[in-house]
Amino acid sequence: IGHENAEYVVSRIRSVPGFPKEGIIFRDFMPVLSDARALRLLLEGMQSALPVPADSFDTIAGLEARGFLFGPALAAHLGKGFLAIRKAGKLPPQTIGESYDLEYGTASVEVETNLVHPGERVLIVDDLIATGGTAKAAADLIVKAGGVVVGFSFVMELIGLDGLSHLGGLPTSSLVSMP
Ligand code: AMP
Repeated sequence: IGHENAEYVVSRIRSVPGFPKEGIIFRDFMPVLSDARALRLLLEGMQSALPVPADSFDTIAGLEARGFLFGPALAAHLGKGFLAIRKAGKLPPQTIGESYDLEYGTASVEVETNLVHPGERVLIVDDLIATGGTAKAAADLIVKAGGVVVGFSFVMELIGLDGLSHLGGLPTSSLVSMP
């Protein structure tokens, strides 16, 4: 998308120090979404940075909640379907779940079993990767449900946490790196 366009997208990312707690800089993508030019450029950027060719996957899976903002938009852009990976307890029955560790305690994510076809090739999308724990849980979940994870696409990678290296060596892409 070019340097100037990339700078424009980055200028729309809002950084909120101390949210949701001290020591964290929350990276907020809502101002990117609300801006027609930035949203279009972001989707074009994600498309051209795809970690695998677009014809090597069938479906995009996105993580609640902010993976639901970019995942379906990118899927529609590429002519793919979208699978929602939700926090536990939100989907009607017939789900499969995967638990993962948080800094304090655990969380779990779920997907509707009968929406994942055997052998379906899935690209996982989220707004941001920090430690990689969330994305890894999403990938394990898709595999448990019978799918195949081909790679991961993020808008942003947090520098210093090495999250991308916790994803089983699968292809990854991220558009922006910030601390
Ligand atoms: P992790 O599992 O550590 O890779 O954390 C990634 C998840 O937490 C993603 O779903 C992000 O949306 C969210 N997240 C973690 N750190 C931040 C941050 N600094 N700003 C915004 N979202 C974050």
